Amino acid sequence: MILMGDTTALAQAHDKKDDEKSKDELVEELTLLSNNYNDVISRHNNDNVERKRAEEELQRANRALKALSKCKEAMIRAEDEPSLLNDICTIVVDVGGYRLAWIGYIESDEMRTVRPVARAGYDEGYVDNLKIALNDPIRGNGPTGISLKTGKPYGSRDVESDVVMQPWRLDAIKRGYISTLNLPIMYEKQILGALVIYSGRPGAFDEEELELLWDLAENLAYGIATIRDRVRRDQVEKELQRAKEELEVRVEERTEELKLAKAQAELYLDLLSHDINNMLQVALGYLELAQDMLELDHGEKELITRPYETLLKSSRLIDNVRKLQKSNTGEIKEQIMDLEQVLSNVISEYEGLPDKYIHERYKANGRCPVKANLLINDVFSNLIGNAIKHPNGDNVDISINLDTVRDNGYQYYKVSIEDNGPGIPDDMKDRIFYRAQRGLTNANGMGLGLYLVKSLVDSYNGKVWVEDRVNGDHTKGSRFVVMLPAIEN
Ligand code: ADP
Repeated sequence: MILMGDTTALAQAHDKKDDEKSKDELVEELTLLSNNYNDVISRHNNDNVERKRAEEELQRANRALKALSKCKEAMIRAEDEPSLLNDICTIVVDVGGYRLAWIGYIESDEMRTVRPVARAGYDEGYVDNLKIALNDPIRGNGPTGISLKTGKPYGSRDVESDVVMQPWRLDAIKRGYISTLNLPIMYEKQILGALVIYSGRPGAFDEEELELLWDLAENLAYGIATIRDRVRRDQVEKELQRAKEELEVRVEERTEELKLAKAQAELYLDLLSHDINNMLQVALGYLELAQDMLELDHGEKELITRPYETLLKSSRLIDNVRKLQKSNTGEIKEQIMDLEQVLSNVISEYEGLPDKYIHERYKANGRCPVKANLLINDVFSNLIGNAIKHPNGDNVDISINLDTVRDNGYQYYKVSIEDNGPGIPDDMKDRIFYRAQRGLTNANGMGLGLYLVKSLVDSYNGKVWVEDRVNGDHTKGSRFVVMLPAIEN
């Protein structure tokens, strides 16, 4: 606009006839025209300077923006922390067009030294000579120190005149660093270190450029944290894998040891169940012979019956151990068995004993199929045998019941064996089913009979317990109850 107005004045002056004007008038006009011309040229020049400056600022912001986007790419690619830090410094210098960039981490030593961990650009020993430590009263209060202590960017747009640059000023000027920007690298309120950038141009780092570089430093902090998380996760995974491998080796070793121990235990058990039991049978045979052949009085007979009964108990104990082992190893295959038939067979073994009465209080109502194995006979012969073994007076009266019941929606066969023996006190009712728990009657044994009963019933998915025959008075005898799941059609 200004240029247009000046051209019109010049034309009007030119239109006035030369011969109508005095010499002075002409000189005046020429001076005016010349002044106007100079004015126009100077304004035009000023406009150019302004435009150039704006262009430069725009260019710088563009380069910073490009550097920011390249840094984001580098963070995605980054494999480890040191190479990420070096890549960032290189991009800041090469793409951002700065003279030098370096990154320093705050050490946890007493002086809180700032250790340079990456750098790129024109350095010439500058970074190694910085020797910044936050607890140093002078070198801890320069641009980097201020930025790290405040957690805010610190810019020096003129290194030469900034007093806080004093310890490094000469070195910086020698290397052509005119302005500097210090950006703290912060993650979750913790300051890890700083990204420091130097420019060879005066007045660099205007508002827009600063904002972009600040954004870059924030992204860098996030990138570092991501890599550290990944490294930690990898480490935990590696440790877990190592622990798993160690455990596998130990399990393998232990399994071998256990196999050996098992083979040895089986060998001993075989020795007991076959060889020792054979010897016991021989001894029992001789004692029976002695009882039959020798004419002994009552007292002398006792001398034979006592060892005879003891040897018989040992033989039964060995039998039970063998059976338990067979049941545990699944050596005896499961099959469908008729519970009613099992009971009849077992009861028949005890029939005809003097003063022992066994009443079967159930009607044969056809088959009662259960899933068990041949050892099921031992369950009932132990329970009936115990009722006979533990009398209360001369007569033994045993009642056996068999019912069908439902429990939790499933059908069971419930066998109860009642006796008129001394009964089991409440505090013993559970314990007698466990190994090495002794009862209170005189005929205390090894406690393995009921342990075998419980182990077998458990393995058939059934239940066994004892209760008072007369509720609340255990001295009137016991009722052993066995429940076995029925096989339903
Ligand atoms: P054992 O085979 O040595 O007889 P059990 O495991 O069969 O051992 O029984 C454990 C203890 O429970 C017995 O020693 C006895 O005191 C007691 N007991 C078992 N059945 C009866 C019963 N019907 N009446 C009274 N006491 C019993």
